[in-house]
Amino acid sequence: MTNYTNLLKEYDLKVTPQRVAIVEELYKNGHMNIDDLYKKLLSKFPSVSLATIYKNINAMIEKVFLSEVKIPNSKSVYELVKTEHAHLACSCCGDIEDVMLDTSSILIEASKLSSFKIDSTNIILAGLCPKCSK
Ligand SMILES: [Zn+2]
Ligand SMILES: [Zn+2]
Repeated sequence: MTNYTNLLKEYDLKVTPQRVAIVEELYKNGHMNIDDLYKKLLSKFPSVSLATIYKNINAMIEKVFLSEVKIPNSKSVYELVKTEHAHLACSCCGDIEDVMLDTSSILIEASKLSSFKIDSTNIILAGLCPKCSK
């Protein structure tokens, strides 16, 4: 089992039961939007507010422990920071999955074709997930 407390400490983040719960949920589910996180946390901490969750998430984003994935026409999802990758978004059920594509090569290619100083990528490929394409 992963020790979420140590993980938070490694990133120089204050350990609180709510933070541990957020990390645990993201670890289990991969990507979650704020509403899903709020629902999960409410079942454990009935007095938690949406504002508190946002505050915790933003603190963890600042330390580059979590990252926000902006999804077109939908709410952002959050995930634990890992190596650069792209996302697959199901246009039917909204499921978000990782695809371990090396996005740095796209960044390099795009930099060659443009004088834009590119410093980040957010690649979302849309389609149908295996469940929905059945
Ligand atoms: Zn789907
Ligand atoms: Zn991801």
